Amino acid sequence: MREKSRVLIVDDAEIDRIALKKILCDHYEIVEASSGQQALELLESARDRIAAVILDLLMPGMSGMRFMEMYQKSETLRQIPVVIATAEKKVKTERECLELGAWDFISKPYDPSITRFRIKNVIDRSQLQISKELRYRAEYDVMTGIYNKVKFFQVTREMIDQNPDTDFVYARLDIEKFQLVNSFFGMEQGDRLLRRIAEVLREGAKDSPVVTYGRIEADIFGICMPYRGKEALLAFTEKVREEVNIYQLDFDIVPNFGFYLINDRSLSVNDMDDRANLASKSCKGNYIESYAFYSPEMSEQIIKEQKIVNRMKKALKNEEFILYVQPKYELQGNTVGGGEVLVRWMTRDYGLVSPGEFIPVFERNGFIMELDQYIWEKTCQMLSRWLKEGREPQPVSVNISRVSLYNPRLVEVICGLVEKYEIPPRLLQLELTESAYTSNPKAIKDTMERFQQAGFTILMDDFGSGYSSLNVLKDIAVDILKIDMKFLSDTDKQGRSENILASVVRMAKWLNMPVVAEGVERQEQVAFLKSIGCEYVQGYYFAKPMPIEEYEKLAFNGYLSQKDVAEETALSADNLWDSTSQMEILFSNMLQAVAVYEYDDDNFDVIRVNNAYYDLFGYSDINNVQKRILTTIDSEGRKALEGTFRELVETREIGECEFMRKLESGRLIWIHLKLKYINQVGKKHIIMGSLTDITEQKKLDRELSKYRAAFSVAKNGKETILIVDDVEVNRISLRCIFAGRYRILEAENGKEALEILREQPDAVDIILLDLMMPVMNGATFLEYKRADAAIADIPVIIITADDTTKQQVQTLELGADDYIVKPFIPEIAIRRVGNVLDSNRRLYQEV
Ligand code: C2E
Ligand code: CA
Ligand code: CA
Repeated sequence: MREKSRVLIVDDAEIDRIALKKILCDHYEIVEASSGQQALELLESARDRIAAVILDLLMPGMSGMRFMEMYQKSETLRQIPVVIATAEKKVKTERECLELGAWDFISKPYDPSITRFRIKNVIDRSQLQISKELRYRAEYDVMTGIYNKVKFFQVTREMIDQNPDTDFVYARLDIEKFQLVNSFFGMEQGDRLLRRIAEVLREGAKDSPVVTYGRIEADIFGICMPYRGKEALLAFTEKVREEVNIYQLDFDIVPNFGFYLINDRSLSVNDMDDRANLASKSCKGNYIESYAFYSPEMSEQIIKEQKIVNRMKKALKNEEFILYVQPKYELQGNTVGGGEVLVRWMTRDYGLVSPGEFIPVFERNGFIMELDQYIWEKTCQMLSRWLKEGREPQPVSVNISRVSLYNPRLVEVICGLVEKYEIPPRLLQLELTESAYTSNPKAIKDTMERFQQAGFTILMDDFGSGYSSLNVLKDIAVDILKIDMKFLSDTDKQGRSENILASVVRMAKWLNMPVVAEGVERQEQVAFLKSIGCEYVQGYYFAKPMPIEEYEKLAFNGYLSQKDVAEETALSADNLWDSTSQMEILFSNMLQAVAVYEYDDDNFDVIRVNNAYYDLFGYSDINNVQKRILTTIDSEGRKALEGTFRELVETREIGECEFMRKLESGRLIWIHLKLKYINQVGKKHIIMGSLTDITEQKKLDRELSKYRAAFSVAKNGKETILIVDDVEVNRISLRCIFAGRYRILEAENGKEALEILREQPDAVDIILLDLMMPVMNGATFLEYKRADAAIADIPVIIITADDTTKQQVQTLELGADDYIVKPFIPEIAIRRVGNVLDSNRRLYQEV
């Protein structure tokens, strides 16, 4: 036999306790307390064994009301339903009790059936909630509200099996550097981000019946969906990336995707997940492509990496990592102008290993932070020795991995080192790779400014490898630009790369920023670099990275490098800048639309534009440009434009604005204009501007915000009450009570109500039902309703004018969930409807 539930009766009057006990003892085990205090103690000691409490309000000592106040405050107590026993009908007290969380009422003297009904009802309700909660916890990830790993694997298995003709792809989504979001912005933001990802997945899956997703662990999510080709898949990743970044933080959230195209359906979902995981690992740290497909070789790669990981710590201790230095040359005088420190791993088994083999591994597992610090310290020791030996060293640069940049103590560490070894900071230059700037601009900007204040020089490494345009250069405090020739030479048209390089050098000159060209291997490259006025070079053509002793000979003892760099070219950098024709070529061939403006007395003229500018707007000659510039921009845009010019002339720095412009074809496009002050000639100011078409981006922004607006409406959509009563004044008064909180539908009798329900079975959340009505009365309506599966589950609250016990019992026996009495007391009616909806509402969101 099932164990009976326990009911706690709290009443100071013994006679009332006996009465209740008699009514309930057949169905429940009874526990008694004669005061609020005693009841609390009992609950405290036997909390999870009591199924419901019946509470008298008027008691000496701790009154029922005081008990309810304590009850209200306790998360665990609130799980236990409390039914209030009142001696007389006092609306005010009932109202207060409801506010304190009471579940229901019974009135003295007790009617046996109503009492039993009410107690059974609240216990059922609370148990339903508990079991739903338990089931929820077993299947869902509580923080994000989507499936947990176990359930996700299970539904994925089912989906794959039930759709034998569909090709599926299993994706594993992992947030690059998620722990940094936690440590930079706090756990709360981290949690928010995870919930956002869940939301994005939920939204994305809303319209597709065959897709599963869930949270696998921490910041890792799994998705299984039909495979519709690579393009569609990448569009999906891109969308996720954008959506995830909507809410952000000054931090580019990069979701990594590892894909496994399910070609072996016999694999367990767990194995599929492992494969996607291998793929995902292979693209970690790769900022350009944040996805990868599983291939069998990945398993081998992982094993190889594991070997490196196993040995790295010991290798550091054994001093297996050694420093090489590659000289940098001043192109003009062919003299060594400094060097770059590059690490090498001297292994016993494989000899000298290049950083390309192990740095990416270290960046993935974080060991690079230790290695970087080691290299910086060794470099400081080297510089310190040179200073002690009385040499006059040129600056030497070290590399700072993007991972080290995330160390909040980075500046302290490096400052600490130069202090410890008494080195002037200008001798230790710092190289940061370009992609680091784009991924986290704000934090990096701060770090760099602190470095510069401390006297360090900062180089932007690998410029051109990432996404940044020339425009970023002005925003961040870089001292020297490094361009790798290899980023230029693999483009198909050599001429094009040269033009790009030339414009970069030119632009950098405007910004007073020296340029180092690295990876220079051939004589023609040297000639070209000279011709465009590049000042520093580094590359195999001049010298390869070499052990420290060799570098010393070169830098201090006047040795010549492998190559004697005496080749002079006809074009010297000096005459280049005088040659207007050369300038013209550079300017005209820049990829970005550029214009030169003349500004005085609040007026600006376009004096020159390049080919890209003509292409952008569809003009072919400068006169047209001048004529049309203001008539093609609306007044708002004009205001923005004029304001930006005015400000620029005052600050003489950089300004930017956005505006809409009409093309010759009549099409409207959005332009982002960035202006740079060049100089003043007489009264006229010369200003240079670069223009970008941002129409697509704007369109996307607009669509997204529309989408979000629509989404929030749907989410805030109200629940619907169907009021069924033939008396208009009743309907009106109910409408007044509920109209603010719910959507209201009305019917005059059972027949009308059925019609409404059958038309839209999902539209109604709860029914308020009068019993006595012409055409079809309430009882008949309930019979029909019960028989129709589509609407049988909609909860019903009976409206009754008859307050007799008999009537109440009868209405409850009809299968209704509760009743309210006419004339209506708004608070009680609202609470009863709310309670019924709460216990009926599905606890978990639809998935
Ligand atoms: P990087 O900072 O861009 O360094 C330049 C790389 O180009 C070096 O490769 C150098 O040997 C190579 N190089 C120089 N001249 C030429 C040339 O004319 N042609 C060609 N093809 N290559 C040339 P290395 O030493 O293999 O280093 C590779 C990358 O590993 C470096 O790229 C840097 O990102 C990283 N790295 C090296 N040492 C360190 C270090 O101590 N710490 C950190 N965080 N990263 C390092
Ligand atoms: Ca470097
Ligand atoms: Ca580089």
